[in-house]
Amino acid sequence: MKKNILKLLFASVFFSSIALVPAKSYAAGTYRFCANWAYIFSDKGVGEDYLTYGSGSSYGLLPAFTAWGAVNYNNTRVFNGPLDANGCTAAITANAGTYTFMIYPRFSYGGTTKIDVYPDSNQQWTYWQTQRSLPGSSSGATTYTDNLGGSPIASVAAVATWIMAWWAYNDVNYLPGSSPYIIYATQDGCQGPTGYIGGRTVKLCKDNSGIWKAYRKFIIGHEMGHAVSDVLFGNPTIDNYTMYSTAALCRCDHVTSSNNYHCIQSQHAISAAEGEGWAQFYSMNLFNNPSDGSAWFGYYKEFLQNGTSCKNGTCWPPPVPLPLSLDVLWMNTNCPTSNSYGVEADWASFYWWVKNQGSSNNYSFGNIAGVYYTACGNSSCAGDTVLWSSLRNAANTIYGTGSSKAQFWLNTGAQKGVNHSTE
Ligand SMILES: [Zn+2]
Repeated sequence: MKKNILKLLFASVFFSSIALVPAKSYAAGTYRFCANWAYIFSDKGVGEDYLTYGSGSSYGLLPAFTAWGAVNYNNTRVFNGPLDANGCTAAITANAGTYTFMIYPRFSYGGTTKIDVYPDSNQQWTYWQTQRSLPGSSSGATTYTDNLGGSPIASVAAVATWIMAWWAYNDVNYLPGSSPYIIYATQDGCQGPTGYIGGRTVKLCKDNSGIWKAYRKFIIGHEMGHAVSDVLFGNPTIDNYTMYSTAALCRCDHVTSSNNYHCIQSQHAISAAEGEGWAQFYSMNLFNNPSDGSAWFGYYKEFLQNGTSCKNGTCWPPPVPLPLSLDVLWMNTNCPTSNSYGVEADWASFYWWVKNQGSSNNYSFGNIAGVYYTACGNSSCAGDTVLWSSLRNAANTIYGTGSSKAQFWLNTGAQKGVNHSTE
Protein backbone atom coordinates (compact mmCIF):
# COMPACT_ATOMS: atom_id res chain seq x y z
CA MET A 1 0.00 0.00 0.00
CA LYS A 2 2.75 2.40 1.03
CA LYS A 3 4.59 1.55 -2.15
CA ASN A 4 1.62 2.45 -4.28
CA ILE A 5 1.25 5.83 -2.60
CA LEU A 6 4.88 6.57 -3.36
CA LYS A 7 4.37 5.52 -6.94
CA LEU A 8 1.37 7.82 -7.18
CA LEU A 9 3.35 10.64 -5.62
CA PHE A 10 6.21 10.22 -8.08
CA ALA A 11 3.76 10.01 -10.95
CA SER A 12 2.11 13.26 -9.99
CA VAL A 13 5.47 15.02 -9.55
CA PHE A 14 6.53 13.69 -12.90
CA PHE A 15 3.41 14.91 -14.66
CA SER A 16 3.44 18.31 -13.00
CA SER A 17 7.06 18.70 -14.14
CA ILE A 18 6.05 17.98 -17.69
CA ALA A 19 3.38 20.62 -17.43
CA LEU A 20 6.01 23.25 -16.48
CA VAL A 21 8.13 22.67 -19.57
CA PRO A 22 7.53 25.34 -22.25
CA ALA A 23 5.54 24.40 -25.34
CA LYS A 24 7.57 22.14 -27.55
CA SER A 25 9.35 23.87 -30.42
CA TYR A 26 8.82 22.89 -34.00
CA ALA A 27 11.42 25.38 -35.31
CA ALA A 28 13.87 23.94 -37.81
CA GLY A 29 15.96 27.08 -38.03
CA THR A 30 18.60 28.49 -35.70
CA TYR A 31 19.69 31.84 -34.39
CA ARG A 32 23.29 32.74 -33.78
CA PHE A 33 24.47 35.87 -31.96
CA CYS A 34 27.83 37.43 -32.78
CA ALA A 35 29.89 40.39 -31.61
CA ASN A 36 32.74 42.45 -33.01
CA TRP A 37 34.90 44.81 -31.05
CA ALA A 38 34.73 48.21 -32.73
CA TYR A 39 38.18 49.38 -31.69
CA ILE A 40 39.65 52.85 -31.85
CA PHE A 41 43.42 53.38 -31.62
CA SER A 42 45.22 56.67 -31.99
CA ASP A 43 48.50 54.83 -32.61
CA LYS A 44 47.41 52.60 -35.51
CA GLY A 45 48.75 52.85 -39.02
CA VAL A 46 52.45 53.43 -38.31
CA GLY A 47 53.47 50.57 -40.59
CA GLU A 48 52.33 47.65 -38.43
CA ASP A 49 50.25 44.79 -39.84
CA TYR A 50 47.43 44.13 -37.36
CA LEU A 51 44.56 45.91 -35.62
CA THR A 52 44.66 48.72 -38.14
CA TYR A 53 41.94 50.42 -40.19
CA GLY A 54 41.92 52.72 -43.17
CA SER A 55 42.19 56.48 -42.89
CA GLY A 56 38.58 56.69 -44.16
CA SER A 57 37.30 54.77 -41.13
CA SER A 58 36.98 55.91 -37.56
CA TYR A 59 37.23 52.40 -36.14
CA GLY A 60 38.18 48.82 -36.97
CA LEU A 61 36.29 45.59 -36.34
CA LEU A 62 37.55 42.38 -34.76
CA PRO A 63 35.38 39.31 -33.97
CA ALA A 64 35.14 39.02 -30.18
CA PHE A 65 36.83 35.62 -30.13
CA THR A 66 37.01 34.06 -26.62
CA ALA A 67 34.95 36.86 -25.02
CA TRP A 68 32.30 35.50 -22.68
CA GLY A 69 28.84 35.41 -24.24
CA ALA A 70 25.47 34.65 -22.68
CA VAL A 71 22.03 34.44 -24.28
CA ASN A 72 18.71 34.48 -22.46
CA TYR A 73 15.58 33.27 -24.27
CA ASN A 74 12.52 34.62 -22.45
CA ASN A 75 14.64 34.91 -19.29
CA THR A 76 16.03 31.39 -19.55
CA ARG A 77 19.75 31.01 -20.15
CA VAL A 78 20.23 29.13 -23.42
CA PHE A 79 23.92 29.87 -24.06
CA ASN A 80 26.76 30.58 -21.65
CA GLY A 81 30.37 30.37 -22.76
CA PRO A 82 33.18 31.86 -24.82
CA LEU A 83 32.43 33.11 -28.33
CA ASP A 84 34.00 31.21 -31.22
CA ALA A 85 36.57 32.31 -33.80
CA ASN A 86 33.88 34.31 -35.60
CA GLY A 87 32.84 35.98 -32.35
CA CYS A 88 29.61 33.94 -32.29
CA THR A 89 27.58 31.80 -29.95
CA ALA A 90 26.63 28.24 -30.82
CA ALA A 91 23.43 27.82 -32.85
CA ILE A 92 20.26 28.35 -30.79
CA THR A 93 16.87 26.91 -31.82
CA ALA A 94 14.95 29.72 -33.51
CA ASN A 95 11.76 29.91 -31.48
CA ALA A 96 9.74 33.10 -31.28
CA GLY A 97 10.50 35.15 -28.22
CA THR A 98 12.77 37.68 -26.63
CA TYR A 99 16.50 37.09 -26.91
CA THR A 100 18.99 38.97 -24.77
CA PHE A 101 22.64 38.73 -25.86
CA MET A 102 25.26 39.74 -23.28
CA ILE A 103 29.03 39.99 -23.83
CA TYR A 104 31.52 40.17 -20.97
CA PRO A 105 35.21 41.11 -21.32
CA ARG A 106 36.30 37.83 -19.78
CA PHE A 107 38.48 35.86 -22.19
CA SER A 108 38.45 32.08 -22.10
CA TYR A 109 39.34 29.28 -24.44
CA GLY A 110 39.47 25.52 -24.03
CA GLY A 111 38.02 25.79 -20.54
CA THR A 112 40.69 28.22 -19.31
CA THR A 113 40.17 31.88 -18.49
CA LYS A 114 43.31 33.86 -19.39
CA ILE A 115 42.36 37.56 -19.27
CA ASP A 116 39.77 39.54 -17.31
CA VAL A 117 39.21 43.18 -18.24
CA TYR A 118 37.55 45.43 -15.66
CA PRO A 119 36.98 49.19 -15.74
CA ASP A 120 39.06 49.61 -12.59
CA SER A 121 40.37 47.98 -9.46
CA ASN A 122 36.87 47.63 -8.00
CA GLN A 123 36.58 44.67 -10.38
CA GLN A 124 32.94 45.27 -11.30
CA TRP A 125 32.03 43.86 -14.70
CA THR A 126 31.20 46.06 -17.62
CA TYR A 127 29.15 44.18 -20.18
CA TRP A 128 27.29 44.83 -23.38
CA GLN A 129 23.69 43.77 -23.88
CA THR A 130 21.30 43.69 -26.83
CA GLN A 131 17.67 42.63 -26.64
CA ARG A 132 15.69 41.47 -29.65
CA SER A 133 12.09 40.27 -30.07
CA LEU A 134 12.35 37.67 -32.79
CA PRO A 135 9.49 36.01 -34.66
CA GLY A 136 10.83 32.49 -34.71
CA SER A 137 12.06 30.81 -37.81
CA SER A 138 11.05 27.50 -39.28
CA SER A 139 13.92 27.26 -41.71
CA GLY A 140 17.55 28.21 -42.17
CA ALA A 141 20.02 29.94 -39.87
CA THR A 142 19.96 33.63 -39.01
CA THR A 143 22.90 35.54 -37.56
CA TYR A 144 22.65 38.78 -35.61
CA THR A 145 25.84 40.76 -35.15
CA ASP A 146 26.54 43.59 -32.72
CA ASN A 147 29.50 45.95 -33.05
CA LEU A 148 30.64 46.95 -29.58
CA GLY A 149 32.64 50.12 -29.37
CA GLY A 150 32.95 53.76 -28.63
CA SER A 151 34.24 53.13 -25.15
CA PRO A 152 37.90 52.77 -24.15
CA ILE A 153 37.22 49.34 -22.63
CA ALA A 154 36.09 47.98 -26.02
CA SER A 155 39.48 48.91 -27.47
CA VAL A 156 41.26 47.17 -24.58
CA ALA A 157 38.99 44.16 -25.13
CA ALA A 158 40.07 44.06 -28.78
CA VAL A 159 43.73 43.80 -27.72
CA ALA A 160 42.79 41.10 -25.20
CA THR A 161 41.06 39.11 -27.96
CA TRP A 162 44.11 39.62 -30.16
CA ILE A 163 46.51 38.27 -27.52
CA MET A 164 44.14 35.33 -26.94
CA ALA A 165 44.37 34.47 -30.64
CA TRP A 166 48.18 34.37 -30.46
CA TRP A 167 47.94 32.27 -27.31
CA ALA A 168 45.36 29.84 -28.72
CA TYR A 169 46.83 29.42 -32.19
CA ASN A 170 50.55 30.19 -31.95
CA ASP A 171 52.27 29.83 -28.57
CA VAL A 172 50.89 29.40 -25.04
CA ASN A 173 53.76 31.56 -23.77
CA TYR A 174 51.99 34.64 -25.09
CA LEU A 175 50.09 34.26 -21.78
CA PRO A 176 52.16 31.91 -19.62
CA GLY A 177 51.00 30.57 -16.28
CA SER A 178 47.66 29.32 -15.06
CA SER A 179 45.83 32.15 -13.31
CA PRO A 180 44.24 34.95 -15.39
CA TYR A 181 45.87 38.25 -16.32
CA ILE A 182 43.89 41.29 -15.21
CA ILE A 183 43.59 44.64 -16.97
CA TYR A 184 42.00 47.72 -15.41
CA ALA A 185 41.05 49.50 -18.62
CA THR A 186 40.00 52.93 -17.36
CA GLN A 187 41.44 53.46 -13.92
CA ASP A 188 40.57 56.96 -12.75
CA GLY A 189 42.72 59.28 -10.70
CA CYS A 190 46.06 57.79 -11.69
CA GLN A 191 47.33 60.06 -14.44
CA GLY A 192 51.04 59.69 -15.02
CA PRO A 193 53.55 56.93 -14.48
CA THR A 194 51.34 53.90 -14.10
CA GLY A 195 50.78 50.85 -16.19
CA TYR A 196 52.16 47.58 -15.02
CA ILE A 197 51.57 47.26 -11.29
CA GLY A 198 53.09 43.87 -10.57
CA GLY A 199 52.08 40.24 -10.79
CA ARG A 200 49.74 39.75 -13.72
CA THR A 201 47.91 43.04 -13.34
CA VAL A 202 47.94 46.03 -15.68
CA LYS A 203 46.37 49.37 -14.83
CA LEU A 204 45.63 51.77 -17.69
CA CYS A 205 45.14 55.42 -16.85
CA LYS A 206 45.13 58.69 -18.77
CA ASP A 207 48.24 60.29 -20.23
CA ASN A 208 49.26 63.82 -19.32
CA SER A 209 46.91 65.28 -21.96
CA GLY A 210 43.91 63.45 -20.51
CA ILE A 211 43.65 60.76 -23.20
CA TRP A 212 42.92 57.22 -22.06
CA LYS A 213 45.90 54.95 -22.63
CA ALA A 214 43.23 52.39 -23.56
CA TYR A 215 43.22 54.02 -27.01
CA ARG A 216 46.90 53.15 -27.55
CA LYS A 217 47.28 49.49 -28.45
CA PHE A 218 51.09 49.64 -28.26
CA ILE A 219 50.84 50.80 -24.63
CA ILE A 220 48.41 47.99 -23.76
CA GLY A 221 50.75 45.49 -25.42
CA HIS A 222 53.73 46.99 -23.60
CA GLU A 223 52.17 46.71 -20.14
CA MET A 224 51.02 43.17 -20.84
CA GLY A 225 54.60 42.43 -21.88
CA HIS A 226 55.78 43.32 -18.36
CA ALA A 227 53.21 40.96 -16.84
CA VAL A 228 54.24 38.16 -19.21
CA SER A 229 57.98 38.46 -18.56
CA ASP A 230 57.31 38.48 -14.84
CA VAL A 231 55.74 35.02 -15.23
CA LEU A 232 58.22 33.75 -17.84
CA PHE A 233 61.50 34.57 -16.13
CA GLY A 234 60.98 37.27 -13.50
CA ASN A 235 61.44 40.98 -14.16
CA PRO A 236 65.04 42.16 -13.64
CA THR A 237 65.72 45.29 -11.61
CA ILE A 238 64.76 48.70 -13.01
CA ASP A 239 67.36 50.43 -10.82
CA ASN A 240 64.89 53.29 -10.10
CA TYR A 241 65.25 54.22 -13.81
CA THR A 242 68.49 56.05 -13.07
CA MET A 243 69.77 57.81 -16.20
CA TYR A 244 73.52 57.69 -16.54
CA SER A 245 74.10 59.92 -19.53
CA THR A 246 74.08 63.70 -19.87
CA ALA A 247 73.56 63.46 -23.66
CA ALA A 248 70.09 64.74 -24.61
CA LEU A 249 69.64 61.86 -27.08
CA CYS A 250 70.14 59.38 -24.24
CA ARG A 251 67.72 61.02 -21.83
CA CYS A 252 63.98 61.82 -21.70
CA ASP A 253 64.03 65.51 -20.81
CA HIS A 254 62.03 66.20 -24.00
CA VAL A 255 59.12 63.95 -22.94
CA THR A 256 56.02 65.78 -21.71
CA SER A 257 53.08 63.62 -22.84
CA SER A 258 53.72 60.96 -20.23
CA ASN A 259 56.20 60.25 -17.47
CA ASN A 260 59.83 60.90 -18.35
CA TYR A 261 61.33 58.35 -15.97
CA HIS A 262 62.39 56.38 -18.99
CA CYS A 263 61.85 56.45 -22.73
CA ILE A 264 62.78 54.30 -25.68
CA GLN A 265 66.08 56.17 -26.23
CA SER A 266 67.20 56.75 -22.64
CA GLN A 267 70.24 55.03 -21.25
CA HIS A 268 69.75 53.12 -18.03
CA ALA A 269 71.20 50.29 -16.05
CA ILE A 270 71.26 47.35 -18.43
CA SER A 271 68.44 45.43 -16.74
CA ALA A 272 66.08 48.41 -16.86
CA ALA A 273 66.79 48.57 -20.61
CA GLU A 274 66.17 44.83 -20.90
CA GLY A 275 62.87 44.96 -19.00
CA GLU A 276 61.48 47.94 -20.90
CA GLY A 277 62.94 46.68 -24.18
CA TRP A 278 61.19 43.37 -23.63
CA ALA A 279 57.87 45.17 -23.09
CA GLN A 280 58.32 47.16 -26.33
CA PHE A 281 59.26 43.94 -28.13
CA TYR A 282 56.26 42.00 -26.82
CA SER A 283 53.95 44.78 -27.99
CA MET A 284 55.60 45.13 -31.40
CA ASN A 285 55.47 41.37 -31.81
CA LEU A 286 51.69 41.37 -31.26
CA PHE A 287 50.92 43.77 -34.07
CA ASN A 288 53.44 42.77 -36.73
CA ASN A 289 53.61 39.68 -38.90
CA PRO A 290 56.77 37.95 -37.65
CA SER A 291 57.56 36.47 -41.04
CA ASP A 292 57.52 39.58 -43.22
CA GLY A 293 60.87 40.83 -41.93
CA SER A 294 59.76 44.31 -40.93
CA ALA A 295 58.19 45.45 -37.70
CA TRP A 296 56.96 48.90 -36.79
CA PHE A 297 56.32 50.27 -33.36
CA GLY A 298 53.94 53.15 -32.63
CA TYR A 299 55.85 54.87 -29.86
CA TYR A 300 53.69 56.70 -27.34
CA LYS A 301 56.10 59.33 -26.03
CA GLU A 302 57.94 62.12 -27.83
CA PHE A 303 61.06 61.07 -29.71
CA LEU A 304 64.18 63.21 -30.04
CA GLN A 305 66.28 62.82 -33.15
CA ASN A 306 69.27 64.96 -33.96
CA GLY A 307 68.79 67.74 -36.47
CA THR A 308 65.90 66.35 -38.46
CA SER A 309 62.90 65.96 -36.22
CA CYS A 310 63.51 68.29 -33.31
CA LYS A 311 64.00 71.50 -35.24
CA ASN A 312 63.23 74.60 -33.23
CA GLY A 313 63.07 72.48 -30.14
CA THR A 314 60.08 70.50 -31.39
CA CYS A 315 60.24 66.74 -31.15
CA TRP A 316 58.32 64.08 -32.98
CA PRO A 317 54.99 63.89 -31.21
CA PRO A 318 53.46 60.53 -30.42
CA PRO A 319 52.67 58.19 -31.99
CA VAL A 320 56.15 58.00 -33.49
CA PRO A 321 56.60 55.30 -36.17
CA LEU A 322 59.78 53.46 -35.17
CA PRO A 323 61.13 50.62 -37.37
CA LEU A 324 62.57 48.60 -34.51
CA SER A 325 63.22 45.57 -36.72
CA LEU A 326 66.13 47.56 -38.16
CA ASP A 327 69.49 47.73 -36.41
CA VAL A 328 68.87 50.73 -34.19
CA LEU A 329 72.26 50.75 -32.42
CA TRP A 330 71.15 53.73 -30.34
CA MET A 331 73.63 53.30 -27.49
CA ASN A 332 76.59 52.61 -29.75
CA THR A 333 75.77 55.62 -31.93
CA ASN A 334 74.64 58.20 -29.41
CA CYS A 335 75.56 57.30 -25.84
CA PRO A 336 78.64 56.37 -23.85
CA THR A 337 78.85 52.59 -24.01
CA SER A 338 79.23 50.32 -21.02
CA ASN A 339 78.65 46.69 -20.18
CA SER A 340 76.35 47.75 -17.35
CA TYR A 341 74.21 50.20 -19.39
CA GLY A 342 71.63 49.73 -22.06
CA VAL A 343 68.95 51.41 -24.19
CA GLU A 344 65.50 49.87 -24.50
CA ALA A 345 65.22 50.43 -28.28
CA ASP A 346 68.34 48.29 -28.81
CA TRP A 347 67.01 45.50 -26.59
CA ALA A 348 63.57 45.57 -28.22
CA SER A 349 65.24 45.16 -31.59
CA PHE A 350 67.43 42.34 -30.24
CA TYR A 351 64.52 40.31 -28.81
CA TRP A 352 62.45 40.73 -31.96
CA TRP A 353 65.34 39.57 -34.12
CA VAL A 354 66.26 36.51 -32.07
CA LYS A 355 62.60 35.48 -31.95
CA ASN A 356 61.75 35.98 -35.59
CA GLN A 357 64.73 36.28 -37.90
CA GLY A 358 66.79 33.15 -37.30
CA SER A 359 64.67 30.59 -39.18
CA SER A 360 65.34 27.26 -37.47
CA ASN A 361 67.46 29.07 -34.89
CA ASN A 362 64.60 31.30 -33.73
CA TYR A 363 64.21 31.71 -29.97
CA SER A 364 60.62 31.22 -28.84
CA PHE A 365 59.40 33.08 -25.77
CA GLY A 366 60.12 29.87 -23.87
CA ASN A 367 63.65 29.70 -25.30
CA ILE A 368 64.38 33.31 -24.32
CA ALA A 369 62.98 32.61 -20.86
CA GLY A 370 65.28 29.57 -20.65
CA VAL A 371 68.33 31.69 -21.42
CA TYR A 372 67.36 34.18 -18.70
CA TYR A 373 66.61 31.45 -16.21
CA THR A 374 70.00 29.86 -16.80
CA ALA A 375 71.74 33.26 -16.73
CA CYS A 376 70.20 33.92 -13.31
CA GLY A 377 71.62 30.74 -11.78
CA ASN A 378 68.74 28.44 -12.72
CA SER A 379 66.23 30.61 -10.93
CA SER A 380 64.00 33.61 -11.48
CA CYS A 381 65.67 36.85 -12.59
CA ALA A 382 63.29 38.95 -10.46
CA GLY A 383 65.19 41.96 -9.17
CA ASP A 384 68.48 40.81 -10.69
CA THR A 385 70.98 42.64 -12.86
CA VAL A 386 71.51 40.48 -15.95
CA LEU A 387 74.66 41.33 -17.90
CA TRP A 388 75.21 40.37 -21.54
CA SER A 389 78.05 38.06 -20.54
CA SER A 390 75.61 36.03 -18.41
CA LEU A 391 73.13 35.75 -21.28
CA ARG A 392 75.86 34.80 -23.75
CA ASN A 393 77.19 32.11 -21.43
CA ALA A 394 73.68 30.81 -20.81
CA ALA A 395 72.96 30.46 -24.54
CA ASN A 396 76.24 28.57 -24.91
CA THR A 397 75.40 26.33 -21.95
CA ILE A 398 71.92 25.47 -23.23
CA TYR A 399 72.62 25.02 -26.94
CA GLY A 400 76.34 24.22 -26.94
CA THR A 401 79.18 26.63 -27.60
CA GLY A 402 79.59 27.03 -31.33
CA SER A 403 76.16 25.58 -32.14
CA SER A 404 74.24 27.50 -34.77
CA LYS A 405 71.53 28.47 -32.28
CA ALA A 406 73.99 29.75 -29.67
CA GLN A 407 75.89 31.51 -32.43
CA PHE A 408 72.70 33.20 -33.62
CA TRP A 409 72.19 34.64 -30.12
CA LEU A 410 75.77 35.94 -30.06
CA ASN A 411 75.69 37.35 -33.58
CA THR A 412 72.37 39.09 -32.98
CA GLY A 413 73.76 40.63 -29.80
CA ALA A 414 76.58 42.13 -31.83
CA GLN A 415 74.29 43.17 -34.69
CA LYS A 416 71.98 45.01 -32.28
CA GLY A 417 74.73 46.48 -30.11
CA VAL A 418 73.65 44.89 -26.84
CA ASN A 419 76.73 42.68 -26.53
CA HIS A 420 78.83 44.89 -24.27
CA SER A 421 80.89 42.81 -21.96
CA THR A 422 84.12 43.12 -20.05
CA GLU A 423 84.92 39.44 -20.54
ZN1 LIG B 1 57.28 49.65 -19.20
